[in-house]
Amino acid sequence: MLYKGSCHCGKVAFEVQGELGMAVRCNCSICSRKGALLWAVSHDKLKLVAWGDDLGRYTFGKAAIAHRFCRTCGIHPFAEDVSQGSERSAYININCLDDVDPTTIEVYEFDGRSA
Ligand SMILES: [Zn+2]
Repeated sequence: MLYKGSCHCGKVAFEVQGELGMAVRCNCSICSRKGALLWAVSHDKLKLVAWGDDLGRYTFGKAAIAHRFCRTCGIHPFAEDVSQGSERSAYININCLDDVDPTTIEVYEFDGRSA
């Protein structure tokens, strides 16, 4: 299935190919602040369709994950592994997907705070 998503203002827009079965709520310092529900996909399933200069990038700690956000509206639509290669994942914030009701998606609680 093809999912479409965007930030709030629409300057960052993307598509994801896959089956959304379960989302992850992570309690680490950044995910808890964002309130994101994450869907991990192989990075090649994520296709940006609009971004330009508006796609900001934030890393912290070991800088293994780049948290991407819209510089205009401030929404964080996804994050991605910094490392390249076939194992690279993207972490989609399902709250930013069109036509997805997050309350219908099973949520796995991930203890990222302790990881
Ligand atoms: Zn935006």
